[in-house]
Amino acid sequence: MEVREYESGKEGITRLILGGVHGNEGRVSKKILEKIAPNPSEGKVVIIPNLNISRRGYISTLDKNYTRSPTGRMHRSVLERYKPDVVVELHAFNSEGYKSLIDKDRMNKKGVPRMVPYREDLPMEDQVLHGGPPPWIKNKFKEHASYITLEVHEDYGKEAEKAFLFVLNAVISSKSVNEIRDRLKGEYQASMKKAGSLLQDYLSRSD
Ligand SMILES: [Zn+2]
Repeated sequence: MEVREYESGKEGITRLILGGVHGNEGRVSKKILEKIAPNPSEGKVVIIPNLNISRRGYISTLDKNYTRSPTGRMHRSVLERYKPDVVVELHAFNSEGYKSLIDKDRMNKKGVPRMVPYREDLPMEDQVLHGGPPPWIKNKFKEHASYITLEVHEDYGKEAEKAFLFVLNAVISSKSVNEIRDRLKGEYQASMKKAGSLLQDYLSRSD
């Protein structure tokens, strides 16, 4: 498995960016990761472009058997190894999958809140959806923006790319989770507020 580590040489937060969790999502993460300069001024950045090295069938990170799957075990072990302060999971959806990601009833159906577009005024291909941690790790990442799950369309457009890069750059160049959250709020205030309240409700559930 390819792991890229970028050390600033100064103390600071560790950011872990995970791509290719499912099937061919690696293709989409690779494209976007080529456009970032992962050079933090403090702390470090760890990038794993393709977590799903087994290339076995699709298993959702929300599935209760996920952490027993090869990808899930790898996912857990990189979290234990790097002890990141911030995690970003990169995913790609297709047109059929979009509805279930933003479904208002997603909490009941999947055990996680619906994902929220940073900008909902744009067409689906130009949206970036964001959410929090999967259930099996949610108690370790309670701060909003400490675990950012991102979804873009597999054939994403220019506006989606812009938002995607904005978020990744905020994660890489900020010095704390607070700073990341503030920068995201500065750009996407309404969306961050909505996601923050969905996250609070999700974290308060004990299941
Ligand atoms: Zn995925």
